[in-house]
Amino acid sequence: MSVIIFVETADGSVRGSSLEAVAYGAALAQKQGGTATAIVLGNQVAQDGLASLGNYGANKVIHCNDDRLNNGNIQAYSNAIAQAFEKESAKVLVLAKSSLGDAVSARLSVRLKASLASNVTELPDLSNGFTVKKGVYTGKAFQVVTLNSENKILAIKKNAIVINKTESTASVETWQANLSDADFGVKILKTDKVTGKVLLPEADIVVSGGRGLKGPENWSIIEELADTLGAATGCSKPVSDLDWRPHHEHVGQTGVKVSPSLYIAVGISGAIQHLAGVSSSKCIVVINKDPEAPFFKAADYGIVGDAFEILPRLTKAFKV
Ligand SMILES: Cc1cc2nc3c(=O)[nH]c(=O)nc-3n(C[C@H](O)[C@H](O)[C@H](O)COP(=O)(O)OP(=O)(O)OC[C@H]3O[C@@H](n4cnc5c(N)ncnc54)[C@H](O)[C@@H]3O)c2cc1C
Repeated sequence: MSVIIFVETADGSVRGSSLEAVAYGAALAQKQGGTATAIVLGNQVAQDGLASLGNYGANKVIHCNDDRLNNGNIQAYSNAIAQAFEKESAKVLVLAKSSLGDAVSARLSVRLKASLASNVTELPDLSNGFTVKKGVYTGKAFQVVTLNSENKILAIKKNAIVINKTESTASVETWQANLSDADFGVKILKTDKVTGKVLLPEADIVVSGGRGLKGPENWSIIEELADTLGAATGCSKPVSDLDWRPHHEHVGQTGVKVSPSLYIAVGISGAIQHLAGVSSSKCIVVINKDPEAPFFKAADYGIVGDAFEILPRLTKAFKV
């Protein structure tokens, strides 16, 4: 039995969250005694990049190298993935939980008549049906659900899977999905991206500032630490509402959800709406002068003190 893994790409590379999805799909295929087949859409990833998905456990990569698929067109992506799923006689589709993954998985669950579990954190328990654990309530609780349909879709929560990289490579099959103009009902004319900086949703390290920084003129201490660590900068909602920082840096329930390995929160109180955007971080470090700040309860490490004293010292220490 084949497990299909939809692999997202950006700027010629496979997204980190999709590598986790491949590792998950490969582990599931092994558990079910089947094979793991990744599907990559568009022609932006080089051949060796495709084959290297074998490092993460894929046995085969189906490469639909149609340049109309370079832009994340949800309708066309869903149709192409459904065709690959049917061609491979797969029963399970695995993909990363992301904004593209959410849109594609919702369409595909209808098209494939599949049970869908999103934000999945563990491999399924197959001892009595197909039972998976998933994060709910913005990561504050877990649900255990059984998927009863013959076809199943699992969207994997970022940072939930441990990757064991190997030297294996995958075979690459070039394949064309049968797509017509009707699949491109929405035409993406151009995508303007922030360039030259680490992008917040993709960042492995985030240094984020709150109202405790007092004003935009003080952001250099955040930026210097972020530059030193190769991190992206984020902020709390009031900070972007006050125009101290651009809105695309606002982290939280109503802003960007981040899943870095390290989230450093500086002068942020830790309101529940902010925590909703950072709960998938692997390690949270909080710097706040108030020892009672709620963020400390969610922190792995905390520093009680004045950001204006601590940040320059941290930056200096990391530069050594
Ligand atoms: C519907 C709704 C949605 C929301 N969505 C979001 C969201 O997505 N993201 C979000 O962030 N907020 C959101 N909020 C707002 C949220 O409730 C908080 O008001 C906000 O997160 C507080 O921002 P803050 O921690 O920067 O500011 P404050 O609450 O003012 O906290 C500032 C912190 O800085 C500390 N501090 C002060 N000076 C220093 C210093 N020198 N050194 C170190 N620490 C210092 C203080 O002790 C304090 O803990 C939302 C609110 C609502 C009602």
